[in-house]
Amino acid sequence: MANISRRRFLQAGAGLGALSLLGFPMLSFGAAAKVVVIGGGSGGATAARYLKQYDPSLDVTLIERNDTYYTCYMSNEVLSGDRTLEQIAFGYDGLKKAGINVVIDEVTKVDPATKKITTAKAEFTYDKLIVSPGTDLKWDAVEGYTEETSKEIPHAWKAGEQTKILRAQLEAMNDGGVVVITAPANPFRCPPGPYERASLIAQYLKEKKPKSKLIILDAKPSFAKQELFMQGWEKLYGYKTDNSLISWKGLEDQANVTKVDAKTRTVTTDFGDTVKADVLNIIPAQKAGKLAFDIGLTGDSGWCPIDFKTFESTKHKDIYVIGDACIAGAMPKSGYSANSQGKTAAAAVVASLRSLELPETSHINTCYSLVGKNYGISVAGVYQVGKGEDGKDSIIAIKDSGGVSAKDADDATRATEAAYAHGWYKNITSEMFG
Ligand SMILES: Cc1cc2nc3c(=O)[nH]c(=O)nc-3n(C[C@H](O)[C@H](O)[C@H](O)COP(=O)(O)OP(=O)(O)OC[C@H]3O[C@@H](n4cnc5c(N)ncnc54)[C@H](O)[C@@H]3O)c2cc1C
Repeated sequence: MANISRRRFLQAGAGLGALSLLGFPMLSFGAAAKVVVIGGGSGGATAARYLKQYDPSLDVTLIERNDTYYTCYMSNEVLSGDRTLEQIAFGYDGLKKAGINVVIDEVTKVDPATKKITTAKAEFTYDKLIVSPGTDLKWDAVEGYTEETSKEIPHAWKAGEQTKILRAQLEAMNDGGVVVITAPANPFRCPPGPYERASLIAQYLKEKKPKSKLIILDAKPSFAKQELFMQGWEKLYGYKTDNSLISWKGLEDQANVTKVDAKTRTVTTDFGDTVKADVLNIIPAQKAGKLAFDIGLTGDSGWCPIDFKTFESTKHKDIYVIGDACIAGAMPKSGYSANSQGKTAAAAVVASLRSLELPETSHINTCYSLVGKNYGISVAGVYQVGKGEDGKDSIIAIKDSGGVSAKDADDATRATEAAYAHGWYKNITSEMFG
């Protein structure tokens, strides 16, 4: 097996920030170390590619159940009609070209004791395993909302078929119809996502069905980038006027939806109020993807505890958990976070295999949201390992390193942020899929 040189590791790790490896021992293995990545989404695809970049001699296998990955990011543009579903679809040829063994199969079991992975069709072994299974929906969170019901009342919180169903229902709705979106309590995948969705559906309604209304029923008293979203809604959709296209009701308005009647598309809040919709989009509470539970990687919260520096599971050695499924302190559950964590976990795996000390790393996240055409807003943060508010180790936001878009920004700035959002999308998807 070819040796990875200290310089190469440093070069490849440049995206991680200051990687400084002291006392690099030139180790050589008898056979290539086997690293398996499960989940070919934001975290997993990034980790697999970076493993190969950091150390081309590694035997890297990516196991993903679907041959096509639909990005959740920009799926709200599919709902508004600004983008097609095909434009958010990606395959794995780029990973294959990068020397990664891509296996399209469902992982059914991982045994951390024997380091054996069982899929529907085969078995694999690993020296190190990176797991990025994403989230699953809590089907018991809203009474009457099941996997079966979601075929009629879409969540569209995993992009693809669900996005298609919701878009078709919006297109079929009469002008003058009511769209209801229910948003869950924290933590969940993409904190600004439901509000970007509401904004872009409002944009579609304004253009095509202007007599319609959109109501957000929220299990929270407030939400990400709230002031900026509401300012955009005032400008674009008449928010705060008697004729507003959008309305938002939060927890203080007793808007926590606990029950749905799928036949009549009626939701009930925990205070017994009912709202009837023509198009109903339920976004239920979430937990780590099922595989994380099956492997025994989750804690009491339903998410996976990790070593904040390396992303190695605190439950099972040599398994690293990244992306939405892991507990990453102050980092939001976003594609950009998962991407950043994928790079660190890949570096941690290579460092561990090489008996190197992993240098101090930092993470970055920017969440862009589109409020309308040429109207973008964002929140950004830089993160590192530090003491959380409770004095315990965590991943914390570096003070004054980020922030949200300026509230008094002019139209040109909002248009530039919308262009940045599209640029970010091109960058992250080409980094993941080549
Ligand atoms: C509407 C919406 C908009 C969003 N917009 C943004 C945005 O603008 N910016 C941003 O940064 N983030 C955004 N996100 C969030 C982002 O999509 C997620 O945070 C990110 O995809 C998480 O990455 P992940 O790797 O943890 O999970 P995923 O990307 O979901 O990948 C998990 C993969 O694991 C596979 N898998 C799971 N179990 C198995 C198994 N047993 N066997 C084989 N394969 C398996 C799945 O098929 C899946 O491909 C948005 C989300 C939504 C819903």
